[in-house]
Amino acid sequence: GKREPTDLNALIKEYVNLSFHGMRASKNPINVKIEWKLEKEVGMINLISEDFSRVIVNLCNNAFDAMRVKSLSPSPGSTSAPVNVTENECNYEPKLTVRTRREENHITIEIEDNGPGIPEDLKDNIFQPFFTTKKGTEGTGLGLSITHDIINAHGGELKMETSRGKNPFTKFIIQLPN
Ligand code: ADP
Ligand code: MG
Repeated sequence: GKREPTDLNALIKEYVNLSFHGMRASKNPINVKIEWKLEKEVGMINLISEDFSRVIVNLCNNAFDAMRVKSLSPSPGSTSAPVNVTENECNYEPKLTVRTRREENHITIEIEDNGPGIPEDLKDNIFQPFFTTKKGTEGTGLGLSITHDIINAHGGELKMETSRGKNPFTKFIIQLPN
């Protein structure tokens, strides 16, 4: 594909919803609230939309997967293994926050979940091809490395922030030149 002026907020809405409906139709759906914070000022951005839609789907699929698991122990800094929870056992309110904003020299997109967070010792590995913590065929470990490559090809940057504290979160931040 080639880069074309694209309504970024519309693309994001479409593909966050696609990932959400996929999760809801899967065999272990959870109730996730989606909070939309999309600034109108973002407008049209030059994107390869087929590629960029994969970025959004990859990040949302990861967020929904993460929110299906919660730490066994809620204590801050706990390293105990996460457990799979079903909708009925879920003891917190899973929430995905999606933000876009126009800043001085770039467009920022943030996809944040309140799942268990990423342990300190895995932070450096998650962008490596084939790195996954998912069992069997659930994860290929390619999502974040492909996401990183697509954002690079757009001249942008991909960053991650996470906390394993009392209110854990994981946030992927995309910055695109504009
Ligand atoms: P996959 O989803 O196939 O495992 P990815 O490259 O998409 O591969 O992600 C690699 C790993 O990064 C995941 O297996 C998971 O351990 C971690 N990860 C990614 N996103 C999140 C998130 N939002 N919260 C917690 N862990 C995450
Ligand atoms: Mg993935």
